[in-house]
Amino acid sequence: MSYRDLNPSLRTIMTPGPVEVEPRVLRALSTPIVGQFDPEFTVIMDETMEMLRKLFQTNNQWAFPIDGTSRAGLEAVLSSIIEQEDVVLVPIYGRFGHLLTEIAQRYGAQVTNMETTWGQVFDPADVIQEIDRVKPKIVAMVHGETSTGCLQPLKEIGEACRERDILFVVDAVASIGGVDVRVDEWKIDACIGGTQKCLSAPSGMAPVTFNSRIESLLLERKKVEQGLTDLKASELSKRRMIRSNYFDLSQLMDYWSPVRLNHHTEATSMLYALRESLRIVLEEGLEARFARHQLHEKALMQGLQAMGLELYGDSRSKLPVVTCIAIPEGIDGESVRSMLLRDFEIEIASSFGPLKGKIWRIGSMGFSCRKKNILSVLGALEAVLIRHGAQVKPSEGTQAALDVYHQHQN
Ligand SMILES: *Cc1c(COP(=O)(O)O)cnc(C)c1O
Repeated sequence: MSYRDLNPSLRTIMTPGPVEVEPRVLRALSTPIVGQFDPEFTVIMDETMEMLRKLFQTNNQWAFPIDGTSRAGLEAVLSSIIEQEDVVLVPIYGRFGHLLTEIAQRYGAQVTNMETTWGQVFDPADVIQEIDRVKPKIVAMVHGETSTGCLQPLKEIGEACRERDILFVVDAVASIGGVDVRVDEWKIDACIGGTQKCLSAPSGMAPVTFNSRIESLLLERKKVEQGLTDLKASELSKRRMIRSNYFDLSQLMDYWSPVRLNHHTEATSMLYALRESLRIVLEEGLEARFARHQLHEKALMQGLQAMGLELYGDSRSKLPVVTCIAIPEGIDGESVRSMLLRDFEIEIASSFGPLKGKIWRIGSMGFSCRKKNILSVLGALEAVLIRHGAQVKPSEGTQAALDVYHQHQN
């Protein structure tokens, strides 16, 4: 018996991840393997670290990928800094705040949440007030909430954390490479990104960066474990920690430094992919790249609104790379999505929890974020909605988007 050739369709992917992979990244993935301590490979590791620092806009020494999907990055950071009973504040404004909460709890933290209506973000002053009430060791927050299409301003919260000597951990998985993320300026102590969103590489790595404040904590932990501290036995017994081997940032630092202490076997091909995706980001330039994402966001939003659709979420805090649409009354959202995929080979996303069945989400990330895709999704959505008996204004959507593009050219 034989199996058919692997031959996946060339879809137009307009979801918040995974997105279409840059052709250059696909080519990088098929280049030959070298050993993980081959000098050629360690140069690639160092170059990737250098490019990651630029991506994260940081001077941190430590910037490297965790092998695993983005949540591996979240887990590596949180598991390496949380001790039992540590107080962690996680403000939640969508699904991924719940993920941060769950990971922190599994490592023994006392998590306090604060919530705001989905579709909105927090006023930084409210978060700071809660910080002063809860007095956490760590504040962990999402920057771009993929589930609701919202973007949380972080600078004031980061500054408040720094003034109070609190660690500030940020999930920038959805925003990194598509939206401005200023790790140093916003006083973020540890920041986690993803590959399969605005970097347009496959899923399977999580770039992270962290500063010397986190590093000091890791070094101090190491001493506690080796019994090399002045702490009394009674104090030591309180310092308990659930320690992951795979996600141990201290060991990973030894692996990503000139010491090159063996930890895991680096995911060679994925590192090639990440390196190529970073090269593309830096060639385009961060500012130009953010502006490109905003231009296509504008064309998409104006197109959807001209068609007569209603956008979901507070427009003042919209995440430029995810656009949420209220599913019109009486329309079966899943039927629309499957017709888009079947007849147009275009994939858009639904959402989770309280938003399930209520909104669609269109991602415009990385390589998927281009004129052809925006115009295709607008044209196809219009056709499919008409097919479903929805009241849309025929051809207004693509025309409005074309207006945005033509104005931009002039
Ligand atoms: C996609 C996403 C994640 C999780 O990524 P995985 O690669 O699926 O583990 C975490 N946080 C945010 C904000 C995301 O958008």
